[in-house]
Amino acid sequence: MGEQIKTVNAVCYWCHSHCRVEVHVKDGRLEKIEEVKGESQSERLRPVVRACPRARAAAEYYYHPDRLAYPLKRAGEKGEGKWQKISWDQALDEITAKLKELIEKYGSETVATSHGTHRTQDEYRMRFMNLLGSPNNIGQGNICWAPGGMVGLAVLGWWTGFGGGGKPLPKGTKCIVLWGANPNQANRRLWASLLDRKKEGVKLIVVDPRRIEGADMADMWLQPRPGTDVALMMAMIKVIIDEGLYDREFVEKWCYGFDKLRERVQDYPLDKVAELTWVPAEKIAETARWCTEKPSVIYQGMGIEHSANSIEAIHAHKILAAITGNIDIHGGEPMLGYPQQPEFRHEYDIDLDDKLSPEQRRKQIGADQFRLQSIIGYDLVKGFAKTMWTRYNLGVAHAPSVYRAMLTGKPYPVRAMFTLASNPMITQANTKLVHKALKSLDLYVVHDHWMTPSADIADYVLPSACWLERPHLFDVPINAGEAALPAKIEGVCDRRNDYELYRGLGIRLGQEEYWQWENLEEALSYRLQPAGFTSLKDFIEKTGGYAPLPGEERKYERLGFGTPTGKVELYSTIMEKLGYDPLPRYYEPAESPVSNPELAKEFPLMLITGGRHLPFYHSEHRQIDSLRKMHPNPLVQINPETASRLGISDGDWVWIETPRGRVRQKCQYFDGIAPTVVHAQHGWWFPELPGEEPWLHGVWESNIEVALNDDPDVCNKMNGGWPLRTALCRVYKVKSY
Ligand code: SF4
Repeated sequence: MGEQIKTVNAVCYWCHSHCRVEVHVKDGRLEKIEEVKGESQSERLRPVVRACPRARAAAEYYYHPDRLAYPLKRAGEKGEGKWQKISWDQALDEITAKLKELIEKYGSETVATSHGTHRTQDEYRMRFMNLLGSPNNIGQGNICWAPGGMVGLAVLGWWTGFGGGGKPLPKGTKCIVLWGANPNQANRRLWASLLDRKKEGVKLIVVDPRRIEGADMADMWLQPRPGTDVALMMAMIKVIIDEGLYDREFVEKWCYGFDKLRERVQDYPLDKVAELTWVPAEKIAETARWCTEKPSVIYQGMGIEHSANSIEAIHAHKILAAITGNIDIHGGEPMLGYPQQPEFRHEYDIDLDDKLSPEQRRKQIGADQFRLQSIIGYDLVKGFAKTMWTRYNLGVAHAPSVYRAMLTGKPYPVRAMFTLASNPMITQANTKLVHKALKSLDLYVVHDHWMTPSADIADYVLPSACWLERPHLFDVPINAGEAALPAKIEGVCDRRNDYELYRGLGIRLGQEEYWQWENLEEALSYRLQPAGFTSLKDFIEKTGGYAPLPGEERKYERLGFGTPTGKVELYSTIMEKLGYDPLPRYYEPAESPVSNPELAKEFPLMLITGGRHLPFYHSEHRQIDSLRKMHPNPLVQINPETASRLGISDGDWVWIETPRGRVRQKCQYFDGIAPTVVHAQHGWWFPELPGEEPWLHGVWESNIEVALNDDPDVCNKMNGGWPLRTALCRVYKVKSY
């Protein structure tokens, strides 16, 4: 018999770049991953995929002996580490029975889900929850991309900018501002295109409290005090208006509220903002002027979305893009939306949002306080969103409030949760509270590839198919991939994807008529059919799996802006209607040396966290030997001047302590950070440590979320995002003997 060799066209989701790849399989075994050939993107993908350590480690991941293979049911106390292997049918039957009991007692809203960052087809989770009648979907939506999406919708009716899907920066841009973004670590496709643009002579400005890799080749680096971005942007807007550098024609024709904006920016004179932000006035003014060189683009990263002033900063960013006339021009900030691919069925055609009744919508936890990104805000914009852009995580429940409801029963009991593609014990701030909350549940189900600190305290742990074992379809642009390897092998493993999980539960709960597709491939094929493709396979064969956007510019001239005024709302009538300030305003973060000088005496350093670090992606990949050897320990960056004053040497283990707790990481001397600021890595746990309490795979060792604050009072006023980039801390050497 000859060797069986096949090549499968798939989409990698081990980071947000979502590279199209060819998976080479020989005699049923995964051989290697390569960039996809023969399509427009292949040239761009080559350097990214070839240099990607995660892609190179694909076989190590897929065949890892610790990967979950069969459903597990808790056999001892929660967190005791005792498990019983069961079948999928048993798991789904028992979980359904428990759900019925809890829903009977407390109502459907007692069920919550937590999502992660784009590993699953979440529109089917929404379908399940909308049919079930629960509005309590939580996750990273308040702090990752969705704030940008929500503000984009409120202010323009579109999502503008780059980032999602790792889109490259196009040729022709004159000025690029990396604002709170480090694509060299976070978004390799964007980074590859940035290097190309730099060779072509683009002006590069970096705004970051750390001298990230991009800063070394930048024309200017602004190093602000963490959390002061709104003030910085408002001062830039003032310079642009005062000096008459704005695009008068665009502002007059397409912007609403310019006069009110002009009034508001008077509160941000350069000298005052320079003192507040630590950025010299002349640098602020120069950056503002460079941004008016059309086309220019501000690439906004998680440094903005993780800040206490996230919504206000994103709003100010949209204003900057609009008044400089950079919206939806080539090399500027593109408008992304469904109208560009109307021939496909998109997420909003699938999620059955209308099945969630008004009564149940009103029960969403946290929606009364954080209205913008809740179901209340979503309902205000979704009329526009349906023709423009929508995503499942724009109308989320407020995660910190849901965890509190689990503990207090207020406003009502939340007694069950499903965690998919996320690991809240590592990725949600205030881990001690999250731990208590999850352990208190009557039903906690985790669907994952590995035993994680979250899975350790679950009642059921279900093995999930990874991207190699499942088909995929991402929206705008349509990017589809096939399963390359089987998720079920007799006697080896029986893994399922999220669609199969929700369908299995949905059918048992009486939702049969809405789960007509036998499997995920059929479900995704249904979405491609209006465009003339018979199936997912047919689409991939005919297009290579990718349907590029038509590239139309200035779409607003044809379609308008999806806002109540039909214009870019510099002054947001949506925010006003929701009872918020319609214009950006700077608020001092709740925990800073300025807002809390007394606390700063005890905790004199400013802690920022969340900067990406290769080869990991959030809390993933720490059990992959080749990757872990590249980066064995968590690192906290400290200015050498500060470290030596504290008696800390480069490489020492140090405690990082805030009023909420302490964890330890290894000191990395870094003179590219201010002496009063430290940066701690996120996502750290130790799969090599025991899973039972109190170990929980090392969740309490170096996981910086333990030390972060998620109190609703310190969250962003409009969307409830919790501050990952503004906390006070002290650091000191770990004693050793
Ligand atoms: S860059 Fe990201 S998406 Fe691309 S191959 Fe590497 S891990 Fe996968």
